[in-house]
Amino acid sequence: MLEDRAESAEPSLRMLRALAIVQANLDDAGLGEYVMQLVDDRTNMEGHPIFWAGLPDGRFSASSNCYIFENADRTFAELVALIAAAVQDTLIEVERVMWPTCVTHPGRWVEVRLSSNSVVWWCEVGSGHISHPLGHLPAVL
Ligand SMILES: [Zn+2]
Repeated sequence: MLEDRAESAEPSLRMLRALAIVQANLDDAGLGEYVMQLVDDRTNMEGHPIFWAGLPDGRFSASSNCYIFENADRTFAELVALIAAAVQDTLIEVERVMWPTCVTHPGRWVEVRLSSNSVVWWCEVGSGHISHPLGHLPAVL
């Protein structure tokens, strides 16, 4: 449940580490001018501050409800996937930038997916396949 909050919050170190992995993936795709940030909108979910994937100027998309918050049960891989989906949503909704696309099927949008404890970009063409991994997760976090 969303609740308003008076004071602003800082993203956790874990969130910033997850964002850095997503940002490296963006940089690799030649989209490094989009230095993404986590934007606090001063609401809480289950007592945790909510953040959105913001562009360098602070604009973000809330259209797909890709909000980000910490949760004791959330693994680091899940946090990376959550942030990747939020960045993807902001880029397409605000900038009309389709990122990323399948390495095998050019122009085909892919979605983030968890595969055991790693994060991959998944393409739905045919019976579906992994397009490429999303960064390299540290072994233990
Ligand atoms: Zn594909």
